[in-house]
Formats: sequence, structure tokens, C-alpha cells
Amino acid sequence: MSAQIIDGKTIAGKIREEIKEEVENLKKKGHVPSLAAIQVGEDPGSTVYIRSQRRSCEKVGIEYKLHQFDTTISQKEMSEFIQKLNGDKGVSGIILQMPLPQALDARTLQATIHPDKDVEGVSAANMGMVVFGRPILGPCTAMAIMELIKSTGVDLYGKEAVMVGHSDIVGKPTALLLLDKFVTISVCHIATGERGTLPEYVKRAEILIVAVGKAHLIKGEWIREGAIVIDVGINRVEGKIVGDVEFEEAKERASYITPVPGGVGPVTTAILLKNTIEATKLRIR
Ligand code: NAD
Repeated sequence: MSAQIIDGKTIAGKIREEIKEEVENLKKKGHVPSLAAIQVGEDPGSTVYIRSQRRSCEKVGIEYKLHQFDTTISQKEMSEFIQKLNGDKGVSGIILQMPLPQALDARTLQATIHPDKDVEGVSAANMGMVVFGRPILGPCTAMAIMELIKSTGVDLYGKEAVMVGHSDIVGKPTALLLLDKFVTISVCHIATGERGTLPEYVKRAEILIVAVGKAHLIKGEWIREGAIVIDVGINRVEGKIVGDVEFEEAKERASYITPVPGGVGPVTTAILLKNTIEATKLRIR
């Protein structure tokens, strides 16, 4: 039997509708949610992302302001600029677009963003709340993955899950969020791949999440019958965007599966908007 497709665009649309209402209520009280984006240089991928962020913000009534800098900007200057935004009452959330030039230390700069304005949820304080099971501004992609899984209505308690990829912003927080739902979770990474045991892990997964960035790394035949499959990967192959999972083959074994594109991506952007609303509320607390 063919899997049900988890439609990220529809889920994102529902989140946006809720946000729209919240924006209207906040504006009635005189609070305008706003997102400040910082871009250094002109990376084409980041420019595409910025365009889609702006469109998404405008759709729900969030103000979007892009601050562009030349690649010659120093760490000190950038840090001072972020601190200025931290102190600006008109700014609800700040997003530092990647990649940054080599001369800038992304982690340190990201840590300069005040946790209450860290709408990407990547600061130590916000990640810490994930560990405690009470995310406030949660990491966007990990929160999006949880929304996508929730949309299936499947009871997570005691389920066996496998997270392939252990990045700070996706793999690690997703594993923690699932752990908090009493899921038994294994986290696989490059060393699992090198050891050759990746198929064994994947075959056990009732819930499989893949965030690696290697086209079709996960073979359809590895998918457990009836699994929920969340494909986070974004890869360009012969001019097309594909995920990390062999979609057509996996679809025949899974019960639910996200497409790429149109799965995790739109929901991640919707969570960014949701976090901007949360940040606005934190500001007026
Ligand atoms: P990353 O690029 O920081 O790390 C990749 C991970 O994959 C690491 O944990 C690494 O150990 C693991 N890995 C590499 N080769 C492997 C192998 N052969 N077997 C098993 N594991 C292997 O991770 P990231 O930043 O989470 O990004 C992963 C992918 O997700 C990328 O394609 C990225 O573009 C995509 N992504 C999508 C969204 C979205 O909103 N849709 C958001 C973030 C990232």
C-alpha cells in the first residue's frame, strides 16, 4: 500500500492562519511583530531563502527588514550591530543568515543575539529549554519535524525512532524532543555510515527522520513497513531538488512520508513566523 503524503504546505498554511490572527490581536494592542534579517555578502542560496522569508512574513503581517553588509565587515562591527538590534524595542526577532564569510565567527555572533530575540532557536539558552522539554523559541526545523509527525495523529509513546544526522540545529534537538515524548531514539551519523550499520538501524525505525544532505542515501528497501518517514535533506540533482530518501521506493513501504520539496521546508518557515510572534510576546511581557 502506498503511503499518505504529509503535505507540509497545508500544515504550514494552518500555522500561518493562526499566526495571522495573533498578529492582528497584537497590532490592535499597538505591538507590531517585526523580523530583522542580517545578510553578509550575497550568497545566492541565502538570497533565495531571504526572499521566501520576506514573502512569508508579509503574508501574515509581520514586518521584515533586511540589513545587508559587505563581506569586509569585522567581527566587532557585526557584534555591535547585533547588540544595537537587541536593544531596539521595534525589533521582535533577529535572524543571522548563513553562510558568513570565513573571517566571522558564526557561533559567537549567534550567541550575541539576545535569547528572547533568537527566533531561530539556536542559542544556548533556547537549546537548553529543549533539554528541559519546555522549548520557548525552539529550533525551527526540529519543531517543524515534530509538527509533521504530530499531523499523522500516531501515538508516539514507546515507539522506536531513528534520527539520521546529528547536527546541532536539526538532529540533536529533534532527538531530544522525541525523547521527551517517550520515544526510544537512536541517533546515527557519519560514523554509523562508515561502519556499515546504517541499514540495520533504519530497518528498525517506526519513525525515521533523515537530515544528512546526501541524495537518496536511504534506500527504499530499508524502510520498515508502516514507518513514518520525515525527509529533511535538500539536494540538487540534475536541476531538481530531492531529499535524502529514495522517495518512490520508500513510499511503497511507509505509512506516511514527507515529499521534498513541500514537506519540512514550508513548515520550518512557518515555525520561524510562530517564533517571531512568541518573541513579540516576550518583549511586551
Ligand atoms: P549537517 O550538514 O550539519 O550534518 C550532516 C549530518 O549527516 C551529520 O550528522 C553527519 O555525521 C551525517 N552524515 C553524513 N554522511 C552520513 C552517512 N553516510 N551516513 C549517516 N550519516 C551521515 O546537517 P544539517 O545542517 O542538519 O543539514 C542536513 C540536511 O538537511 C541538508 O541537506 C540541509 O540542507 C537540510 N536542511 C533542511 C532544512 C529544511 O528546512 N528543510 C533545514 C535544515 C537543514
